[in-house]
Amino acid sequence: MPRYSIWTIGCQMNKAESQRIAACVECAGYQPTASFYDADLVILNTCVVRQSAEDKVLGTLGLLKGVKNRHSHLQIVVTGCLVDSDTEELKGQFPHVDLWFKPGNYAELIAWGQRQGIPIEQSVLRCPGNHGAPSPCAFVPIIQGCDNFCSYCIVPYRRGREISRPIEEVICEVEELVRRGVKEVTLLGQNVDSYGHDLPGQPDLADLLNALNGVDGLARIRFVTNHPKDMKLKLIDAMSSLDKVCEHLELPVQSGDNAILNAMRRGYTSEQYRQLVQTVRSRIPGISLSTDIIVGFPGETDAQFEHTLSLVREIRFDVVHAAAYSPRPGTTAFREFRDDVCASVKRERLTKIEELQAAIATEINSQLRDKEVEVLVEGKKKGKWFGRTRSNKLVFFEDDGNWLGKLVIVRIVKTSPWSLTGELNKVSN
Ligand code: SF4
Repeated sequence: MPRYSIWTIGCQMNKAESQRIAACVECAGYQPTASFYDADLVILNTCVVRQSAEDKVLGTLGLLKGVKNRHSHLQIVVTGCLVDSDTEELKGQFPHVDLWFKPGNYAELIAWGQRQGIPIEQSVLRCPGNHGAPSPCAFVPIIQGCDNFCSYCIVPYRRGREISRPIEEVICEVEELVRRGVKEVTLLGQNVDSYGHDLPGQPDLADLLNALNGVDGLARIRFVTNHPKDMKLKLIDAMSSLDKVCEHLELPVQSGDNAILNAMRRGYTSEQYRQLVQTVRSRIPGISLSTDIIVGFPGETDAQFEHTLSLVREIRFDVVHAAAYSPRPGTTAFREFRDDVCASVKRERLTKIEELQAAIATEINSQLRDKEVEVLVEGKKKGKWFGRTRSNKLVFFEDDGNWLGKLVIVRIVKTSPWSLTGELNKVSN
């Protein structure tokens, strides 16, 4: 039997697309292997959102050149955000790659598969179920692309304009996943708040959540990523009233300074962001909040960075993903601004945010000590079961039973900024 290996870097959308590609390659008769050296087909799902990710992609492409020199039958397929509309330059640079296809452009993959005698089924790509290792959690893309054009972001150029999947198609996929043992789905989109504007009748994310809440056997629904300028009251109300929708929100703020937010073209002020958080918290008590922050955006002064620190101090997020600005060729920020905050200042600012957030998360999580939480068990690592609470906290516990895919109640005995440890109390269902 031929074997394939899939290498993925980047966001959850990439992980979800890799799951789909893996499902259809397996349906075409391939078996998975972890090693490039054992594979007949290698698929690279790439990310260029930051220079560090792009460096890893280029390193892996270089490594594969060596593998192909030794195994000339190896076929290499590359997708993800490295692939732009004009692949000619990439083809010249990496002649050992057999196919470049833009993220989500499966028609090219199917056509190439036909030429190679690899029968890739469109129906599997659309509704793949959870092939591969069984997991109770699955990602389900609901909208591709982004119309926002934040000045620093390469995604709209690589993933194109927004295209939503019809509600019926999403429900069909989720029902199929549930039949195969999935208990929790995370709906994915670069901006899930835009969901449905391009569909007949213009349903929105709240409508989709209402429909999915009725799927029997599904226990939890999450979604990422929201955009503060687009998040509507209707969605917040749906979150507060639908029992399967988890109390967790990923709401990237990016900066706490209005001039920087404006230069980033984010479309809101820090005051509007604070107001939105207040509304969310008043309607969904106990909701956990995650955010993304970019430090060292062009021109960011110490005082402007202080505004971001104040916002983090004031809002007290559960999780902050902070990253240093990295200029991306092709974006407005790359064209219009000089990357003038030096690397050492970016590092200092990152450290400051991380230290502040570690202290905040320590305090927030310590309040969970001696409390009982519901955990959906996702797997076992180093002898410990792990899973997440509805508020997306990572929980570990030890037990001899088989708890994979079960909802259990765990009493928390130890907390840290990053995870919780507890003792199994009882099974929830
Ligand atoms: S909303 Fe902004 S940051 Fe997010 S994908 Fe779209 S352009 Fe990029």
